[in-house]
Amino acid sequence: MKVPILDNHLHLDPAGAGASAISEFARAGGTHIILCHKPYKQAPIKRAADYEKAFGITLELAEKVRKETEVTVWVTLGPYPVELLHLAEKMPLAQAKEILLAGMDRAGEFGRAGAAIGLGVIGRPHFDVPPEILAASNEILLYGMELARELGCAAVLHTESGTPEVCRELACLADRAGLPRARVVKHYSPPLITEDANSGLFPSVLSSEKNIAKAAALGTRFLMETDYLDDPSRPGAVLGVKTVPKRTLKLLNEKILTEEDIFTIHQQNPKRVYGVEVEV
Ligand SMILES: [Zn+2]
Repeated sequence: MKVPILDNHLHLDPAGAGASAISEFARAGGTHIILCHKPYKQAPIKRAADYEKAFGITLELAEKVRKETEVTVWVTLGPYPVELLHLAEKMPLAQAKEILLAGMDRAGEFGRAGAAIGLGVIGRPHFDVPPEILAASNEILLYGMELARELGCAAVLHTESGTPEVCRELACLADRAGLPRARVVKHYSPPLITEDANSGLFPSVLSSEKNIAKAAALGTRFLMETDYLDDPSRPGAVLGVKTVPKRTLKLLNEKILTEEDIFTIHQQNPKRVYGVEVEV
């Protein structure tokens, strides 16, 4: 019996293992991935037009995985939130903000064309930043959420740690944008999977053994991710590429999760969040 196994958030790098990392994922039992855009050394963002090349790298990496493996790949694209900070060191903040907004628009066009299933990651730096940077980041995030509502797609958030307070604030922002809370994915989430803990956002739980054990004990309203970076200069920076299939199959074998639970987490949940069909 084959079960669907989706890594909801990982990255590939042109200088990394790329498609061969995804072959390893497949050999461990993985069937689907959501490849999330990240900044690439080969395509620094200095002006709005640079997003074309940067997003193109993510789409090319996805295409290579499709050609070389059996794994189904979907893509999310968005202007990486920390870029605002780098740009604002070299130009007025308003100008830096315009560049990220243009990146959001370009990501939206790829979404409209069917090349991306969501805007992501978008959000704000995961560390303390000056208040004006935070305010500008929130404005860019709100704009992205409005765009996601317009496109009928998901928004994948990169922010500071998802405490219940942070989730509540982000949920209010989604409400302002008219974007359903359940289409807002909180990436790198702790096992805060009850709706009173995450305010109805959709948690993508970082799949450490501890996190997943806690999440599985609370229910099935979550997605699993590794945030694998595929960065040869930072091996082991986050979880390995085989982690989601390994943990999923272990929970199934140990009867901590039933087969039905696995289908909920890896098939129904992504369908609810992104509208995708996870087939095995
Ligand atoms: Zn990531």
